[in-house]
Amino acid sequence: MTISFDLPAGTRQLLAELREWSLHEVRPLARTADTLETKVFEAGKRALESCPIDMSPLAVPELGLVRSGGGKRYRASDSDDDNHVLGVLAMEAMCYGDGWAWGALPRNANLEKILSVIGTPQQLERWETPPGEQPIQSSFAFTEEHCGSDISAIRTQAVRDGDEWVINGRKRFSSQGAEATVMLVFVTVDPARGMSGLRGVMVPQDSPGIKILRETEERKLGMRYLRQSTIEFEDVRVPYDHMLGDPDDPKGFLEGLNVLNRTRPFCMAWNVGTLRGATDYVGDWVKSQTPGFNARRRQRIEEDLGEIRASMDDLMRLLVNAAWKADHGLPHRTEAAMAKSHGPRIVERGYRRLVQIMGSEGSSERHLLEKWYRDAVCFDLLEGTSQILKLTVGRGIFAAANRELETDIAAALRPVSG
Ligand SMILES: Cc1cc2nc3c(=O)[nH]c(=O)nc-3n(C[C@H](O)[C@H](O)[C@H](O)COP(=O)(O)OP(=O)(O)OC[C@H]3O[C@@H](n4cnc5c(N)ncnc54)[C@H](O)[C@@H]3O)c2cc1C
Repeated sequence: MTISFDLPAGTRQLLAELREWSLHEVRPLARTADTLETKVFEAGKRALESCPIDMSPLAVPELGLVRSGGGKRYRASDSDDDNHVLGVLAMEAMCYGDGWAWGALPRNANLEKILSVIGTPQQLERWETPPGEQPIQSSFAFTEEHCGSDISAIRTQAVRDGDEWVINGRKRFSSQGAEATVMLVFVTVDPARGMSGLRGVMVPQDSPGIKILRETEERKLGMRYLRQSTIEFEDVRVPYDHMLGDPDDPKGFLEGLNVLNRTRPFCMAWNVGTLRGATDYVGDWVKSQTPGFNARRRQRIEEDLGEIRASMDDLMRLLVNAAWKADHGLPHRTEAAMAKSHGPRIVERGYRRLVQIMGSEGSSERHLLEKWYRDAVCFDLLEGTSQILKLTVGRGIFAAANRELETDIAAALRPVSG
């Protein structure tokens, strides 16, 4: 049997085109997006429109359906349906020049994933964007003043009043919250019930009682192109059918949250893609130095650049493994958490060395390296912090070990026949 890790020629070509697009269209606008602290600027919109793949919500890599603008579909693994492997590879290529373009998309892929899994047919019809149509701007709001990792402590509450839900509370750090037309708000229907009281409600941004507290939009370390807002809900009324899934089923929304395991590898590929571009950037900078570095210094740099490349390839293998399992409907929570929990540390170490290689020059705003380094630190926090995901990995490993142990014990206790 032959095993090939090669990609089909068309897919390789697509990834090369995405990398070129990111380098020549996205990177030149990276400083602008960082300085303006917004995704909304004319040149940025034009750059997004020139992407070689269809970036509408139903075709973006995070949904595993990578299509060209003309509708051609690409493959990277042996799965016919979802293609998370290709999504991960495309994501890495798209972020090679800089990550702002991905963060600037006018939709929230996590929201779309959850909607696609637990949304009722009516909810899908209302909020899913058909291919080729202009996406609605959406956001995701769970973090509160006192909790982010521990969503069982959420206090924003939805109380039923006839055919409506009445929502009160306050959310922080909602990416694109201010720009969204509709947001998925995590609420509790009963604070005493912890996780089993948790639900998700689709809330139109223009509902009376919603206040965007712009003065709380803090300037943050990195990923400035992705602005976060604090949003207050005061007696906000939404129709009863705006709660996702079955409001009486405590498991429904939690099952929906499980799909976030699928988006974690994409989040990390976003981070790796930019580090790959940065590593090549520094390699080119080293080559361009006149007079060149002496042989000993150059050899050390070559070794370090090689090590950074090897660590990125290792990380991509973890990501592709998780994505491949997702494509085949296999459990992949542990693998996705492993990649997302270890990834930020590996990437950050890479940036630290790249800055060292360039010396003081590497910390200067003349280069994007300092910005990429700042952006990379934020990956430790979004889509599950590293510490929390390490707990997930630990639990997954112990659960698997327990299952094996139980099987071994059951086999040992089975009466010997014959
Ligand atoms: C760029 C960016 C975009 C974001 N976008 C969104 C968004 O769109 N919507 C949204 O709702 N939020 C968003 N957030 C917020 C983010 O999801 C939260 O910051 C994150 O969930 C952590 O929550 P927290 O800040 O409240 O920290 P905490 O949960 O208080 O955690 C603080 C630290 O303690 C650690 N910790 C917590 N509990 C444990 C434990 N049991 N064991 C070990 N360590 C623990 C954490 O790992 C972390 O390092 C975004 C944040 C950033 C930086």
